[in-house]
Amino acid sequence: MTKRECYDICLEQKRSLRSARVATRENALLALEENNKRYKDVKNKITAVGTKIALTAISGGKAQVEDLRKTLLELNVQREAMIKEAGIDAVRYDCEKCKDTGYVNGALCDCVKKAATELYLSEISESVPIKDCRFDNFSLDYYPDKTADGGNPKKRMTEILKLCREYAIKFDPASSESLLFMGNTGLGKTHLSLAIAYELIMNGYNVIYGSAYNLFAKIESEHFSEHSDKSYLDAVKCDLLIIDDLGGEFVSPYILSLVYNIINTRLLARKPTIINTNLSMADINNTYTPRVASRLLGDYTAKKFIGSDVRQQKSIKK
Ligand SMILES: [Zn+2]
Repeated sequence: MTKRECYDICLEQKRSLRSARVATRENALLALEENNKRYKDVKNKITAVGTKIALTAISGGKAQVEDLRKTLLELNVQREAMIKEAGIDAVRYDCEKCKDTGYVNGALCDCVKKAATELYLSEISESVPIKDCRFDNFSLDYYPDKTADGGNPKKRMTEILKLCREYAIKFDPASSESLLFMGNTGLGKTHLSLAIAYELIMNGYNVIYGSAYNLFAKIESEHFSEHSDKSYLDAVKCDLLIIDDLGGEFVSPYILSLVYNIINTRLLARKPTIINTNLSMADINNTYTPRVASRLLGDYTAKKFIGSDVRQQKSIKK
């Protein structure tokens, strides 16, 4: 589901709940009119006085109109009291700002934005633990500050964490750079890309996250079985596309051209993409076409994650 679809669903839910509540009240009022003669009389009088005001105003009887207005006011007070007496409450709105219409002065109300964001996050959560993968719980403790070959994973990962945080804060769908996160499994590539996704989704951006395997399989099956390019277009047009585990998919000639088309189209449109991969530069060169490799190596900012498998360390600790 895309962010747009989440908006539509939430807006529709809000409006149908509102119509249901309005209809319930209207039915209760109709029943009151049928069963309570006093109420019916008052209601008829209100209609009659209203008509009389209009007619009198045309003929110019100013003082008379004033009197009629007072009468109308009194009748309305009586009517409201009877409605209250019958236990019929005013329509209750979940959002007082938009009265559950979903719009305030022609712009989408915050309540719809909030509900759509929640729905979108819960959709993504079904496939990945996005709510658990935040910057705040990314622990640098698992990265040593010294390795046998003279490396300093803690220093490197501190820099990458900082870069990701800043990326999320300064994100601009029209100018942010594309990132290539490289390194072995279990070093936090998914965690940090999901943390970026979470921040951006909360700020209203349209982010699509998918493993290369799932994302490409979905696009391929839609293309061939449903003759639809919906998922492809969603992937190409969203504010930020995150492709996890590039290299984990089955690489066919169709997939090779698909990967190139997605990467190239987004680069041409200056739309940022984040790609996570366990592949080395040499693997990328060998697995994908030279066109794909040159885009990834030339136009993406590559960051190499280093250290030893955090997931393994965590399970040993348990
Ligand atoms: Zn609202």
